[in-house]
Amino acid sequence: MSTLTPAMTAALEEYASWQEPLFEDLHRHPELSMQEERTTGIVAEQLEGFGYAVQRIGGGVVGVLESGAGPTILHRADMDGLPVREDSGLPYASEHTQADADGVEQPTMHACGHDAHIVTALGAARLLAEHREDWSGTFIALFQPGEEIAAGARAMVEDGLAEKIPTPDACLGQHVMGDPVAGRIAVAPGPMFSASVSMRLTVHGAGSHGSMPHRSVDPIVLAAAIVTRLQTLVAREIAPGDFGVVTVGALHAGSGPNIIPDRAQMLLNFRAYSDEILDQLVEGVQRIARAESEAARSPREPEVELFNHYPLTDNDPELAEAVRAAVAAQLGEERVEVMEPSTGSEDFSIIPDALGVPSCYWVFGGYAEGRDPAPNHSPLWSLDLQPTLRTGTEAAAAAAVALLGGRG
Ligand SMILES: [Zn+2]
Ligand SMILES: [Zn+2]
Repeated sequence: MSTLTPAMTAALEEYASWQEPLFEDLHRHPELSMQEERTTGIVAEQLEGFGYAVQRIGGGVVGVLESGAGPTILHRADMDGLPVREDSGLPYASEHTQADADGVEQPTMHACGHDAHIVTALGAARLLAEHREDWSGTFIALFQPGEEIAAGARAMVEDGLAEKIPTPDACLGQHVMGDPVAGRIAVAPGPMFSASVSMRLTVHGAGSHGSMPHRSVDPIVLAAAIVTRLQTLVAREIAPGDFGVVTVGALHAGSGPNIIPDRAQMLLNFRAYSDEILDQLVEGVQRIARAESEAARSPREPEVELFNHYPLTDNDPELAEAVRAAVAAQLGEERVEVMEPSTGSEDFSIIPDALGVPSCYWVFGGYAEGRDPAPNHSPLWSLDLQPTLRTGTEAAAAAAVALLGGRG
């Protein structure tokens, strides 16, 4: 028993003819986070062409399609590219540049596969529109901006998403990855993508001549002590079975060999599978920074600024099982794997959290068997168009139709 009707499955055979050129066009023209103007224009035009009622919300696009009584199911895709110089060698590689938020011209690349998310979500949206008689309820196709900077889902919520669309019964979404192989999906209940937050930490010293350290409070030595001591947070304060990451990604201080500076700045990133552990790690760094500052005779308390907050992506167990069963019925059990939790993060769940509804997020393969997949965000990222696009489209449509319910 397949989830989609035979007519729907048959229709998918023809979809490569429009999905592949659309994918190549989007791949050629990536846009940076919260600047997805061309992309949103294309998405809105496509959805209108399929017969959706289209709205622009918070820099994103939402299409609503009604087909009688029944549940409401939302599928979310993200649209942004990254400031990465593409080195994939693809004939349709991006040569596009765009000024970033600071006005600096950046190379751009769809290095996270969001172009595939757009095309597969549009594929599912079109399939449902062309076969309205085969399901019942309301389907919402949501395309958000700015996932890579954790801004887009929040921007749509703040622009009144909850008041502007029918409240869904569930939110679905998917990400293309190097694992599993193309043609397969992976899904599981529970935490799938980590909660994450970044921190800008500034510690203060007293500047002096490099030859007169006794006249200084050296913020470089202070920062070094902090970096070393915060390694104990995961090793000594988090239970061995729990997951936590604290990374110091940047440490900046000083301007010359004979000048002791008056401050040091660190950029840190945190990951965990629960908000409690994330908070514990953030609080631990602040405690260590305060204590080390005092030990170093720092003249001022350290300053802390948190940014890029990604909530936990936590699959509702019942919904995850319904999605797994629906996609397995459509693709075959052997093409649906058990997803391993990723240490990466997603702003997807901001939308279901704001709407107060359960959600399920899964991954689909983007690299054919035998290829060594480049990681997401790599300049070498290059998807095999098929069976990637077909599988993502089919999984998205099957999950939605199973939850919407048939006309039977
Ligand atoms: Zn990404
Ligand atoms: Zn991504």
